[in-house]
Amino acid sequence: MWKFKYKYHHLPQPFKCTHHISFSLTSQYIHIYTLLLMAVIFSKIGILGGGISGLAAAKQLAEYNPVVLEATDSIGGVWKHCSFRTTKLQTPRCDYEFSDYPWPLRDNSSFPSYTEILEYLNSYATHFDLFKFIKFNSRVVEIKLATHDHKSSSNLLSQKPFWEVAVQTIDASIQWYSFEFIVVCMGKYGDIPIIPKFGKKKGPEVFKGKVMHSQEYSKLNAEESCQLLKGKKVVVVGYKKSAIDLAVECAQANQGEEGKPCTMVVRTSHWIVPHYSIWGLPFYLFYSTRFSQFLHQRPNQGTLRTMLCTLLSPARKATSKMIESYLLWKLPLVKYGLKPDHPFEEDYASCQMAILPESFFPEADKGRINFKRASSWWFWEDGVAFDDGTKIEADLVILATGFDGKKKLRAVLPQPFSAFLEFPSGIMPLYRGTINPYIPNMAFMGYVESVSNLHTSEIRCKWLARLIGGKFKLPSMEKMVEQIKTEAEIMKKTTRFYKRTCISTFSINHSDEICEEMGWTSWRKKTWLAEAFSPYNSQDYQQQDDDDDETN
Ligand SMILES: Cc1cc2nc3c(=O)[nH]c(=O)nc-3n(C[C@H](O)[C@H](O)[C@H](O)COP(=O)(O)OP(=O)(O)OC[C@H]3O[C@@H](n4cnc5c(N)ncnc54)[C@H](O)[C@@H]3O)c2cc1C
Repeated sequence: MWKFKYKYHHLPQPFKCTHHISFSLTSQYIHIYTLLLMAVIFSKIGILGGGISGLAAAKQLAEYNPVVLEATDSIGGVWKHCSFRTTKLQTPRCDYEFSDYPWPLRDNSSFPSYTEILEYLNSYATHFDLFKFIKFNSRVVEIKLATHDHKSSSNLLSQKPFWEVAVQTIDASIQWYSFEFIVVCMGKYGDIPIIPKFGKKKGPEVFKGKVMHSQEYSKLNAEESCQLLKGKKVVVVGYKKSAIDLAVECAQANQGEEGKPCTMVVRTSHWIVPHYSIWGLPFYLFYSTRFSQFLHQRPNQGTLRTMLCTLLSPARKATSKMIESYLLWKLPLVKYGLKPDHPFEEDYASCQMAILPESFFPEADKGRINFKRASSWWFWEDGVAFDDGTKIEADLVILATGFDGKKKLRAVLPQPFSAFLEFPSGIMPLYRGTINPYIPNMAFMGYVESVSNLHTSEIRCKWLARLIGGKFKLPSMEKMVEQIKTEAEIMKKTTRFYKRTCISTFSINHSDEICEEMGWTSWRKKTWLAEAFSPYNSQDYQQQDDDDDETN
């Protein structure tokens, strides 16, 4: 028996570990034989997922004829599969657009519904002829190494298969693909719901009513969801965007005499915002211009800047307080016990800010939405019980408790790579929000958040296309890890909710660094005034003239 061993000696702490990968000669023969039987489909680049990130990747990497593997029968990701009847975009449309494909009515200040977003995405995919790359009903179920040479070569496309990908098709058969490079765009939300854990006899098994996760609810059409909620005592667990939308749908389905109120179980109250205007000033002035982001800590700042940031921290706090004062004046947060205990800027810095549907508090004022603050809760026979000794009755409990994006990745990535998905701080270690230094020939898109996740993904796809095209090289593994750690430290300092990678308070600086690596000018406005005080969005990062010919 021939054995191959590969040790990860070169990994710095805390990732240093020893993994042995063993192959037996017999199993290799079987493997090759199986591959021959199954006619593996080979392509240079595989893109896993057809949401916003997958589409952006397909557009930017179109010259390589990528294969886009999409588990479902449509594009759009969360906008198709995690949306409810009332779900709307909460980013202004001029921020949530591809740099080369503006919204038809981009200056319209209303927020588009999820169906309008899907139309926009379909139109984008049609315009750039992206459908030809997409294989629908193709769920990636396993990824394996196709080579024994795991070290990333400086040339990311080496003419040799690097990964083998098992794809389950609609008839449940498995089709194997092999790729030189994979772009993982499987999304942080959807597919694997987070279900709270309960003690003995405190879980859903003791409850006589119905329990479902918001994911299951999002599969219902308008009539089914209305029927489900109508005349029922509903408890919605959670207080993020999906929970808020759910409570509104519940209130809408329970109008009239027979209507029953819906109760939201709120563990941590976050700041919610009614619109993008604060005391008459546009919201972008506070966080989305170079001037406003100058007040915030950023990675790789020198000592002088660190000192300046400390000196300017009262101005930063004053901005946060000004926004808080507006929200407390505008919304009945105190009345309903929903005033958060933390500053607004911590929610903003952790990408937790939700935009409120107009009818949310009016419905609460009519008694159709109630709030229950509780740090822990569990089921009893007829409803839900809380740690303060109170109980409420319920017919239906909907868990708007989020999704486990990392579990989704771990389920398909092989060992030892799946072990490298997390930093000790809990965030995914990604250089430029894209490359995991320990996983060769693979990029991740859509795992960094900011004000507009579309822009965040698109600019990284442009960066990736140039990296793959050999326009620049990745720094050493040590340098990448250092950069990731620096970013994580900044996020940790800025907000107590730093479990996800959110760059909203230093997004312009992040894009500057990306531009510099791509050889683009980082300051992209026409005048100094615009540079300082106008917001940056995807239109500012349109293709730069000097590489138009090669990449378009
Ligand atoms: C309700 C809701 C509202 C949101 N609102 C905003 C907003 O207003 N502004 C904003 O910036 N962001 C918002 N977001 C964040 C949103 O996730 C991003 O904006 C963006 O749509 C993410 O796109 P994605 O392509 O990275 O991931 P997804 O949209 O999740 O797409 C992933 C795709 O991968 C596919 N896939 C998954 N597993 C596999 C597999 N094993 N094999 C093959 N394919 C697979 C999925 O079917 C899906 O199509 C919202 C998210 C949700 C859930």
